[in-house]
Amino acid sequence: MDPVTKALDELHRRISGLKGGEVASYIPKLAQADPEDFGIAITSMGGRRYQAGKADIEFTIQSVSKPFVYALALTDLGPDEMLRRVGAEPSGEAFNAISLEPGTGRPANPMVNAGAIATTALVSAADSEARSARILDCLSAFAGRRLGYDEEVCASEAATGDRNRALAYLMRSAGSLSDDPYAVTATYFRQCSVLVTAADLAVMAATLANGGRNPVTGEQVVERGVAVRTLAVMATCGMYDGAGEWLLNVGLPAKSGVSGGLIAVGPGRFGVAVYSPPLDLVGNSVRGVAALTVMSERLSLHLMHAPVHLTATVTDTGHGARSSCVRSAEQTALLNCSSGRIIAVGAQGELEFTETEQLLGAVEGAVPASPGWLVLDLMAVTGIRPGSAAMLAAGLADIARRGHRIVVAAQEPFLAAGDGHPDGHSDWRAFGSRDDAVAWCEDQLLAGEPSAGPPAAGGGS
Ligand code: GLU
Repeated sequence: MDPVTKALDELHRRISGLKGGEVASYIPKLAQADPEDFGIAITSMGGRRYQAGKADIEFTIQSVSKPFVYALALTDLGPDEMLRRVGAEPSGEAFNAISLEPGTGRPANPMVNAGAIATTALVSAADSEARSARILDCLSAFAGRRLGYDEEVCASEAATGDRNRALAYLMRSAGSLSDDPYAVTATYFRQCSVLVTAADLAVMAATLANGGRNPVTGEQVVERGVAVRTLAVMATCGMYDGAGEWLLNVGLPAKSGVSGGLIAVGPGRFGVAVYSPPLDLVGNSVRGVAALTVMSERLSLHLMHAPVHLTATVTDTGHGARSSCVRSAEQTALLNCSSGRIIAVGAQGELEFTETEQLLGAVEGAVPASPGWLVLDLMAVTGIRPGSAAMLAAGLADIARRGHRIVVAAQEPFLAAGDGHPDGHSDWRAFGSRDDAVAWCEDQLLAGEPSAGPPAAGGGS
């Protein structure tokens, strides 16, 4: 057994003994769920799938559909119009509360019923049937397999769904819903009765974690920006009235539903799902919350944990950098006695704000007071964020203004992205290897070239 499955199995065993909670009964068919059913599943960013317990039994998705339908409507409308129609504030009230923004009738957020019904209505389609079809296609793409409905649960919910209809009628009278309330709630009931397994939900959650690309099928289901906004709403509003405490204790974007499903997302890491029908007082799966609390703590998944920098950014800083060029005895002697004039600083890995700030600090510490040549070796850098490239360019421009000649060794894409200056002139020369970069500096030094020289009067700060 692989180590991830082993850990899941152990977690499953530990949590299965947990009793307490009530199976939802306001939809008669849901009350028939077996309170002992308990499955847990994880999908990694590499598309690998792990599970323990009953992760393959089907149940209706219920409110766990809400973030995915929100992502679909957000794709159709764009962020501004979406926010104008449905808010993004935790409601602080029960999932089926009749709470709309005074004045506009705008529902508080898309994770509770009023906002979810309004969101369903915002999915572009010619009629209700086409809208249901688009929603099912979307949920299926997130899951990576063709999903179907539980018609009995759908009928059971429709037969007892007057409160949801009341919400829809109220929104229509307030001007925040333009479609026929009866038809929209029918579509919403259909969306809630889509059948999934915990294993499916883990893939769906992993697709959000993976910037909208399903890591199992490779399909880009929604754009990265849509996935980010969806996760943000899940983080603040996804766990009914327990959303604040959940963020405090578990610290992951999540969504739960009345049938006992729960998804949580480790952005860039994995999607996890639990199925266990007994719910706590605010409507979240008791075992789901317990399992995710343990998992988050053990694996340090809480979003507010500062990222751990496992590798040092700066690999070396040194005076007297030398190339492999063969030099005459005279040249070698000259280079030896000018060893402080060519310095090299090497970096590795991804350059985000923290790493770039570290690198610039190291460069500052290494450049001598009198002008010389700085070789910045970025050959082992694997990525530079746009904001970091600008920061690096500004830092190097400052050093160039103080009279140093800057020579960068980097891989082609970074040279293309980073070589330049906001004013349009380049502050450094670029080479494809550290050796070539150092050799060029040596040639300059041996030819008696000054480094860039002191700044022109009035130039630089
Ligand atoms: N079908 C359910 C309802 O609207 C979904 C509720 C939920 O899972 O929170 O009543």
